[in-house]
Amino acid sequence: MKEHSVKLALLKTLSDGTFHSGESLGEQLGMSRAAISKHIQGIQEWGVDVFRVQGKGYQLAQPLMMLEEAAIQSQVSNPVELHPIIGSTNQHLIDNLDNIASGTVCLAEYQASGRGRRGRQWISPFGSNLYFSMYWRLEAGMAAAMGLSLVVGVAVVEALENMGFDGVKLKWPNDLYYQDRKLAGILVEMSGQAGGAAHLVIGMGMNLIMQDRESAIDQPWVSLAEVIGQDRIDRNQLAIAFIQALDKALREYELHGMQDFVERWNRLDNFIGRKVKLIMGNNEVSGIERGIDAHGGVLLETGQGLKSYVGGEISLRKGE
Ligand code: ATP
Repeated sequence: MKEHSVKLALLKTLSDGTFHSGESLGEQLGMSRAAISKHIQGIQEWGVDVFRVQGKGYQLAQPLMMLEEAAIQSQVSNPVELHPIIGSTNQHLIDNLDNIASGTVCLAEYQASGRGRRGRQWISPFGSNLYFSMYWRLEAGMAAAMGLSLVVGVAVVEALENMGFDGVKLKWPNDLYYQDRKLAGILVEMSGQAGGAAHLVIGMGMNLIMQDRESAIDQPWVSLAEVIGQDRIDRNQLAIAFIQALDKALREYELHGMQDFVERWNRLDNFIGRKVKLIMGNNEVSGIERGIDAHGGVLLETGQGLKSYVGGEISLRKGE
């Protein structure tokens, strides 16, 4: 998007984390200091912390490692598109389903309209997180899609474990949790007709170095920086690892279905053996969570015995 090119150029310069004077930035981009100041305001609206110190200039609160399309593309066989500024990475792929190959990935630095399930908002400040979507054409059709959405969570947590980052768990159906706080949300959107292939767009937003000041989020959340105990995160390496892990897991799922994923999912279940409630519209059921079954449903033990629940309208929460 052309209108953003000045802000992106400014961010590239500022990404080193040192001070840059309004004058030098203006010279570099061929504009006045006042114009620079306006663009800096725009950058702040994207959720980036930029400070201005009299006599020194502008500085980012923390250095920024920008995503690099070529570096990511050189390590994966999936087609990769990086759009620094986008409405929603999922929506972008959905809008382009007719022109893209299965496996295509869309990445962004900032989502103006990042979303969760049922129209909820996904807070997506610039450069602090990962916003990632992949298109997958599932020949087995829509019936197999529920299982696939669970496989995605397992693949991402296992990829983190392979990098040495332990302690991340899953909340049914597929959100990532760390110490009972939300680290990442996964949103699988689907189009297709009964009997035909399913076209799935799998989106993930993972918090990496997002700061506490993000109070717009109405539930406990955490960033990967806290999980790993440092805020220097190679976002490009992370993107590469997730693309490879997802691609591999989705292929495996197409060949063998849920076979060994149930066990893998249950090992990572944040709530297994704990009290939870399932919220379904105006209804709530409480019980002890017992992991998932072979159909991808969540098992709940209540006074009435063990029952499996499945469906996109269910939200699981910690019970009292
Ligand atoms: P469900 O259990 O039904 O999936 P959810 O509340 O986890 O419910 P999602 O649709 O997965 O819902 O995600 C949207 C919700 O996630 C928002 O309503 C908000 O509470 C929370 N949220 C939004 N942005 C972030 C973020 N960057 N990090 C963590 N949580 C977020």
